[in-house]
Amino acid sequence: MFITYDEFSRRADQVRAEIATACRAAGRDPAEVGLLAVTKTHPAAAVEYAARYGLPTVGENRVQEGAEKRGQVSAVIRWELIGHLQSNKAKLAATHFDRVQSVDSEKLARMLDRAAGELGRKLAVLLQINAGRDPAKFGAEIEAAPGLLDAALGQKNLVVEGLMTIAPLSDDPSVAVRTFSTLRELRDRLAAQAGVSLRELSMGMSGDFAAAIAAGSTLVRVGTALYGSRAAPT
Ligand SMILES: *Cc1c(COP(=O)(O)O)cnc(C)c1O
Repeated sequence: MFITYDEFSRRADQVRAEIATACRAAGRDPAEVGLLAVTKTHPAAAVEYAARYGLPTVGENRVQEGAEKRGQVSAVIRWELIGHLQSNKAKLAATHFDRVQSVDSEKLARMLDRAAGELGRKLAVLLQINAGRDPAKFGAEIEAAPGLLDAALGQKNLVVEGLMTIAPLSDDPSVAVRTFSTLRELRDRLAAQAGVSLRELSMGMSGDFAAAIAAGSTLVRVGTALYGSRAAPT
């Protein structure tokens, strides 16, 4: 059975307190760090809870699941795609999501741009970088990032807002720390070279968001700590 709203609200209070603690430890203002509720595999109620609590954004990792859930939800909230996107689903993604965080190839950038153009809209995107060099993760290689950024900036219907990464799964917390500072440094370098701000650094999940905040995260993507464990790993 899915958790109650009261349970969700207690968990969300706790997550927000931990975000505030991590911000204080890093000398940062908690207002600089957004909380995205990851609702993948959970029922539409998960989205309603997030909206009722006042969270601005939910994240889904599958286009189809996100699109279906969106049809079941009456609350007004932002939807972001955080999972791998095949370019043949670009149109569906551009139709149903407010931002796509998983742009990891020039081809995908072009397909999303074309889809956004057909829909007569601008689409916000983040570039997903495999900053931990994890063979099990999607994301552009670090070396490919400058070319990918150039290509994305060249698409007139895309608005490139920053970078996203997922740290490798590891028992060693220093792996996540290294991954997050790699993404932060890459962002600083790319922003300087290209003369753009790339403000958003989407990094940190339930198990590692404090480390991500210490490294400069502006958006943590939290599922398990808000909703409990998912039935099946995704
Ligand atoms: C599932 C998922 C999350 C949330 O993970 P939790 O450990 O449940 O907080 C964050 N980011 C991405 C890309 C995900 O797929």
